[in-house]
Amino acid sequence: MSSVGKGVTTASIGRILLSKGYRVGMIKCDMYVNIDAGTMRPTEHGEVFVGSDGIEADQDLGNYERFTGNLSTRDNYVTTGQIYQEVIRRERNLEYKGEDVEVVPDIPNEIIRRINVIAKKGNPDFVIVEIGGTVGEYQNVLFLEAGRMLKLQNPGRVQFALVSYLPVPKMVGEMKTKPTQYAVRTLNSAGIQPDFIIGRSELPMDEKRKQKLSLLCSVAPGDVISAPDAESIYEVPLIMEKDRFGDKILEKFGMRPRKQDLRDWKALVRKIKNAKLPLNIGVVGKYFNTGDYTLVDSYISVVESLRHSAWANNRVPKLHWINSEDFEKNPSSVGKLAKMDGILVPGGFGGRGVEGILAAIKFAREKKIPYFGLCYGMQLAVVEFARNVAKMGGANSTEVDRNTKYPVIDVMEEQKKNLADKNFGATMRLGDYPCKIIKGTLAFDAYKTGSVVERHRHRYEVNNKYRNDLEKHGMIFSGIYPKKDLVEISELRPKLHPWFLGVQFHPEFNSRPWKPQALFDGFIKAAVKKSA
Ligand code: GLN
Repeated sequence: MSSVGKGVTTASIGRILLSKGYRVGMIKCDMYVNIDAGTMRPTEHGEVFVGSDGIEADQDLGNYERFTGNLSTRDNYVTTGQIYQEVIRRERNLEYKGEDVEVVPDIPNEIIRRINVIAKKGNPDFVIVEIGGTVGEYQNVLFLEAGRMLKLQNPGRVQFALVSYLPVPKMVGEMKTKPTQYAVRTLNSAGIQPDFIIGRSELPMDEKRKQKLSLLCSVAPGDVISAPDAESIYEVPLIMEKDRFGDKILEKFGMRPRKQDLRDWKALVRKIKNAKLPLNIGVVGKYFNTGDYTLVDSYISVVESLRHSAWANNRVPKLHWINSEDFEKNPSSVGKLAKMDGILVPGGFGGRGVEGILAAIKFAREKKIPYFGLCYGMQLAVVEFARNVAKMGGANSTEVDRNTKYPVIDVMEEQKKNLADKNFGATMRLGDYPCKIIKGTLAFDAYKTGSVVERHRHRYEVNNKYRNDLEKHGMIFSGIYPKKDLVEISELRPKLHPWFLGVQFHPEFNSRPWKPQALFDGFIKAAVKKSA
């Protein structure tokens, strides 16, 4: 099922093989007909992860990057939509030379072609393919078929691992293996026999259940790998290595480890476990609610980035999820932010919840609580400052109020046509753009360099017409995209606030557990100072 940990498992296999001296390439197969994740609602599909080349992808690519350090591009992300689009394009171009084009084998063949793109790129020793969804559902059947064909065409060079959930129902108090048995049988009916079963569960799997799964699913007992819930996802490679998972993969391929070196990873996990003092960070957003549940997957890279920096500063990150609409329903409740050591507003779209976010930003500014705004969080910080400090009553982003008297955030010139034509897919300002950093600013203090590259995903921008006015009141535009004179970073002068900074880009995509992103680190350091 989804969210059981396939992404982290895939990423962990990547990290484990790297630690044994091999290069890996990763690929995520998403069953959606969508061409990319850019048009999906975050509460529906989780965060949209942006690659350096601007691909709007599934959040699992974020874990791949955070575990392996490999940068993801559009080659690493496959959807059903892309596969069909390419097959149909070829058919229209007569590339099938008059043959009839069939779901099988032409669709699986295109999936295999895509896997081979990664196999050739950067010359990896292994390609790790994650197939999304659940065995037995219609949507991923053709991906499984591609896997089956791939193995047939490459005997001895393909292995399958099934990630399966082993529930421990409260009323029984015992770990149940039956769902996994059925999953294997379903996989068998697709012509696939797993080489490994990764048993995800709250608790470690005992020998008895390993034996049972082995016997009933035709997998060697040692190839049933226990993957219990971990304190942090970064422990997972170490937990899997307790079952010698990596060496077993290599043995099946007739290979050996070139080295065994998870020292850096162990040091990371030690650091995570050793942190004792808490740091309270309020994340004020609007993509939390799914029914009665809170979904933090919408901001997963933000969460991970906050964690990386908190751990690096020897703190336990305590993240508080605050739905900005609460502040609209009950304005005095914004006072609960006083307990926070730092406040972060992540990216977003549309007018819902915006007034609540503005209330939170005002609170952070006036109470001098460290503030970090990402994309929308930066744009709305400019709106708040324009309204309440520069006295531009009713200032807004034209995304929220098209007729505002002070459009301090306005749609980019080149985006107007896209909006008018309803041309929404993959048309934002996406991916890497360079940014020049002005010396003597918070941004420069954090980055310690005058030029950086970060990833973007937006259509609106700071309206240059108001820059002078805002600067006169104490805002500094400390990061600029030189080619178009676009504001990339805005912050407040030190006399107004100890640490208040917003970025037009998404620094959360560049944070690594072993190397926190510089601005997140700056923000966390300011929060640590505040908490002292
Ligand atoms: N909605 C804003 C824009 O399009 C911000 C986007 C974001 O936060 N990713 O510019």
